[in-house]
Amino acid sequence: MKYYIIFGPPGAGKGTQSPLLTKRFELKHISTGELLREEIEKGTEIGIIAKNLIDKGMFVDDSIVLDMIRKEIFETDSSVKGFLFDGFPRTIYQAEEFDKMLRKYKNRSINAVLSLEIDDEIIVERITKRAEIEGRRDDSSQETIRSRIATYHKKTEPLITYYKERGKYFPVKGDLRVDEIFANICQIMESIKNE
Ligand code: ADP
Repeated sequence: MKYYIIFGPPGAGKGTQSPLLTKRFELKHISTGELLREEIEKGTEIGIIAKNLIDKGMFVDDSIVLDMIRKEIFETDSSVKGFLFDGFPRTIYQAEEFDKMLRKYKNRSINAVLSLEIDDEIIVERITKRAEIEGRRDDSSQETIRSRIATYHKKTEPLITYYKERGKYFPVKGDLRVDEIFANICQIMESIKNE
């Protein structure tokens, strides 16, 4: 099993690249944002807690997210070649716990962090446009978008150093065409496939 992370600020293009990559490399896509939106839709206890935080541009508790990830990893059959995590990990604590989980139960570590690098201004533009198409609540106000970007810089960006120190960080320019970005990520994944 391979364990890949697609990384980057909100609006970097993770959700666009993920289905392309999962198809090409036969991976299962695990987006914590999507899983949380499903919980909200279903009106579960987790969904009710999550909705409040997401609407404010804040993160959902690490423990909730880690439980969801654990469940996904253990409930997926072995017909896939691996996983592509999207929107997870988002904090150093999540990354550390994730490493421990993989080490302890699977005797494995992350294969690569594929990181879409992009400027804040382009992100705001893209998310504002996405709001018109997808109608996501957390995309609908400039204030929430700005707050998500600020949370990203404060809590998620430190992961770049974390994964660089472990030799797992692979940057990709995020302001190119979708097919160019896809080709660049594929090239990285092919080059490390047998590791
Ligand atoms: P985006 O990448 O555009 O921020 P996501 O769909 O990945 O969108 O996430 C939407 C929201 O769900 C986040 O702003 C956050 O509130 C919550 N969320 C998603 N993943 C996590 C996570 N790993 N830890 C904490 N909160 C999360």
